[in-house]
Amino acid sequence: MAHLARLAAGFIPFTPYPYRGRHEPCALCGGAETLPLSAHDRRLKRLGTVICAGCGLIRTDPMPTEEELAEYYRHHYRMDYQLVGTKPPRRHLVRTRAEAARRVALLAPVLGPGARVLDYGSGSGEFLQAGAAAGWAMEGVEPGEAYAAHARRLGVTVHAALPEGAGPYDAITSHHVFEHLRDPLAVLRRLAAVLKPGGVLYLSVPDMGPNPRPAFDRLHFAHVHGFVPETLDLLAAGAGLAPDPRFPRERTTCVYRPAEVAFRPDPTLAPRVRAGFRMVDPIRHVLTLGWLAPGLRRLSRDLRDSFRR
Ligand SMILES: [Zn+2]
Repeated sequence: MAHLARLAAGFIPFTPYPYRGRHEPCALCGGAETLPLSAHDRRLKRLGTVICAGCGLIRTDPMPTEEELAEYYRHHYRMDYQLVGTKPPRRHLVRTRAEAARRVALLAPVLGPGARVLDYGSGSGEFLQAGAAAGWAMEGVEPGEAYAAHARRLGVTVHAALPEGAGPYDAITSHHVFEHLRDPLAVLRRLAAVLKPGGVLYLSVPDMGPNPRPAFDRLHFAHVHGFVPETLDLLAAGAGLAPDPRFPRERTTCVYRPAEVAFRPDPTLAPRVRAGFRMVDPIRHVLTLGWLAPGLRRLSRDLRDSFRR
């Protein structure tokens, strides 16, 4: 019952999330100055989001601590997203299989049979499976136990964390993971260190570039960082990586390779990032009932997916 009450509280608008957090400097450039972006998230719950004035990286502020994020993942994340129990719902599988096939096709021109490939944040394992079918030696890293267990049942190797002495890999991929990380630069540096000299690193995160949806509607507690193409490239530069011109780029989905590259935060970026958001007052949004249809649709979809086994 306490669990249900906690889940229900996750849906009450204009109330805060159960966390205190800390004001932290930018994880990318170290800057402390910010531009405000939003005080609410897509549930219309209270959640502060700012843009780093030094480099344009979007972050949650105050930033949840490691423990608070872990607590959120334990109790809310599967409800907020799509997995309760041990089996990902169909809608999720259809989408992830299509994405896995696209990622295999993108990397296939540079990866021969037996290529070693690591998927960081391998989720329910569809890319591991698709890569194995393409003849690659696949390994995944996935801290979410239910997802990892599901993937292992498909017969693929999944570690709970990057193992000691891992790699080196011909390719490392990470799809919609870095927006969840408190310290994306430290993690990317660790991954770049286990890449072979001629290896490639595929990185994809949600695109926080210009979009007509209300600003708060694009924000979510689990996404503690938000990227545009320029800040994703800055993150890569901080790990000694540059976009690999052999691959087509799509906004915040990009293949990088090790390169001599300057780390140069651009202080003119932050106002431009902010200008790409449509500022809508959430209270007015509620009063005009603009939220009702998408809100109800999303809620019913979450509930349906969460309770289907
Ligand atoms: Zn910054």
